[in-house]
Amino acid sequence: MRFAILSKGDITSNDIRTKMKNYLCEFDLEYDEIEPDLVISVGGDGTLLHAFHSYVHRLNKTAFIGVHTGHLGFYADWMPKELEKLIIEIAKTPFQVVEYPLLEIVIQPKNGGEEERHIALNETSVKTPEGSVVLDLEIKGEHFETFRGDGLCISTPSGSTAYNKALGGAIIHPSLESIQITEMASINNRVFRTVGSPLILPKHHTCVLKPLNDRSFFITVDHFTKTYKDVKTIQCRVAREKVRFARFRPFPFWKRVHESFIAGEQRER
Ligand code: NAP
Ligand code: MN
Repeated sequence: MRFAILSKGDITSNDIRTKMKNYLCEFDLEYDEIEPDLVISVGGDGTLLHAFHSYVHRLNKTAFIGVHTGHLGFYADWMPKELEKLIIEIAKTPFQVVEYPLLEIVIQPKNGGEEERHIALNETSVKTPEGSVVLDLEIKGEHFETFRGDGLCISTPSGSTAYNKALGGAIIHPSLESIQITEMASINNRVFRTVGSPLILPKHHTCVLKPLNDRSFFITVDHFTKTYKDVKTIQCRVAREKVRFARFRPFPFWKRVHESFIAGEQRER
């Protein structure tokens, strides 16, 4: 089996990376950053998002696992104190894989330029640092509403505990192949009207955002942000691809949510 390790870059994470790399090579596993079967992220969710995007072109061949040295670590299951146990598990077992749904984003420019396709593990958001974004929201090809406000967030089920949660969205179990749309401070009065509730769309229900004014705005994809202008459409739907997490022991989603938001075991830094 080929593996790669991505570190957050601090001393603790780098030490863990070196230690794991040496041990796993002693167990005759091959270190390969180009075509790994398993990618180990050492850090927090930010590191795992980074790892995910580094291997987004080969999701069907790569599984991910997180060692936790960051702050929250919703995606990172293993504590540094469990390192030896994890190394032995990786070395000896063909691992189980759990799959979570992802979000596909296709951005079509106005001038007939080439479209961009992105995959998000957490979410995409369309927002502006000044004034408001104005956009038409279409669902399944039908006009749904004209949104005016700070922006919209479209999240995956596993991303529903991130930005989506801060926007009042629901936490969605990743067995539900869906995407969730949440509003950021919509303007609602006699002139402008939005639904005001988070919407959950099943697989195959595409939503399209059409920016209406000429202002530039931000589109975020997980931890990336880029400025755009002259965008015709931003199309979002459940992606064909899935993310695969290596599981060496059960860690059910609701337990993960409980530990992250209600009563987490005191996590080490
Ligand atoms: P960050 O500023 O460190 O992320 C904010 C927090 O979200 C961190 O505590 C991070 O955990 C946590 N997080 C990331 N993915 C999560 C998930 N799926 N479930 C629960 N918590 C999660 O930046 P980052 O680490 O690069 O993460 C980027 C993400 O930040 C974006 O995808 C977005 O979801 C989130 N974000 C949240 C807000 C908000 O809540 N108001 C605003 C902007 C962006 P770690 O500490 O382990 O990294
Ligand atoms: Mn972070």
